[in-house]
Amino acid sequence: MMTITKKIAIVGAGVAGMALAILATKQGHQVSLFERGSNLSSLGGGVTLWPNAMFVMQKMGLDKKVMQVGGTPCMMRQFDQHGLLQAEFDILTVNSLCGFPSVAVLRRELMSLLAGALESLGREITFNCAITAADVMTLGQEFDLVVGADGRMNSVIRHALYAENVTPRYHGFVNVIGVGRQRKGILNKAIDDFRGQGERFGIVPVNDGWCYWAGAWNAPAANDHPRAYWCDELHRRFRDWPDPVQDMLLSCDSASVSGVFVHDIDPLPFWHQGNVLMIGDAAHASLPTSGQGACQALEDAWHLTRLLKESDDLESALQGFYQQRQSKTSAAQWVGRQVAKKVFSEQPEPLLPASTLSAAELSRFWMQGLT
Ligand SMILES: Cc1cc2nc3c(=O)[nH]c(=O)nc-3n(C[C@H](O)[C@H](O)[C@H](O)COP(=O)(O)OP(=O)(O)OC[C@H]3O[C@@H](n4cnc5c(N)ncnc54)[C@H](O)[C@@H]3O)c2cc1C
Repeated sequence: MMTITKKIAIVGAGVAGMALAILATKQGHQVSLFERGSNLSSLGGGVTLWPNAMFVMQKMGLDKKVMQVGGTPCMMRQFDQHGLLQAEFDILTVNSLCGFPSVAVLRRELMSLLAGALESLGREITFNCAITAADVMTLGQEFDLVVGADGRMNSVIRHALYAENVTPRYHGFVNVIGVGRQRKGILNKAIDDFRGQGERFGIVPVNDGWCYWAGAWNAPAANDHPRAYWCDELHRRFRDWPDPVQDMLLSCDSASVSGVFVHDIDPLPFWHQGNVLMIGDAAHASLPTSGQGACQALEDAWHLTRLLKESDDLESALQGFYQQRQSKTSAAQWVGRQVAKKVFSEQPEPLLPASTLSAAELSRFWMQGLT
């Protein structure tokens, strides 16, 4: 079917907005991308692009490039806080069942790859442009479709669709993230997850000794703290934890450290009204313990462009988008909450294997809907 070119406004140049801008432009749509920041955000030390995300990276023509700047973890290992191995999970088996690799990449590298791809398509991002609720109305009149890819906490598009009725939910733990280096001579292609009671430290190798990491612990919600507070707190809490954790803390580039009181949102009954739609975290933010936030944001971008191609009727494309995406994104949100409950609740459950799913089950879940 010939796609009828649409004028699409995208609010937010995060992973979801950038991927949608690339895929929709490639499909011939006329895209405008608005970002409130003065440059691209690189919040989060890094992300692991599991095979479902690499499927979308391939559709954008970026799979080989991301493999050049990223790393390919082979194994996921779970330890207790003394370094005793509790469970292992073979990532390569799931990759081969899915037919795509898993790639760990620093956030700044991922964002710059997406920005480069957009630039080579001749599209520019309009920076320093914070869209307001009033702007959403105007954009709705000027464009065929307005897509809110404006993140989890204060999405103006979600506000336009739901007024005050959606409050991001705090789950009682803080996530402090950063970038560090493994000690010279250690060649480690395993994602290592050290867990104590109500505390966790995860390390993801990327390449050339670089890793991104996250330390997390139970904490009441509070206002943001300065970077120095998070650095002191990390050193205090994890000072007796195993060597790989110490390596990260000692080599840590303190400019990369940030702490987030992480919220998610409950699954929502709709994501669009008229020609205004939300995608990514704005629609279905999950906890970092799902490991799927950025991956689902990428999937959204691919599914939306596919549906716009399959149907010229916008309403049926947007309804189809919700129907096809809702159960998978809700499952990712649920997994994030279950893992968080095991590690961070007031009475944490005993430590359990990294994944109770078999490789076959996990690969079926990840690749669901991607053909
Ligand atoms: C601490 C932490 C660690 C994480 N680690 C991982 C991980 O390892 N793996 C993974 O897959 N996911 C991870 N995630 C989740 C992942 O970061 C998100 O799911 C993903 O970035 C969602 O992308 P998005 O584009 O929907 O939103 P965002 O990345 O939040 O992008 C939203 C963009 O919209 C812009 N914006 C907001 N409001 C406006 C406005 N009014 N006007 C214009 N622009 C606006 C923002 O400036 C931002 O650039 C993590 C999240 C957190 C908080």
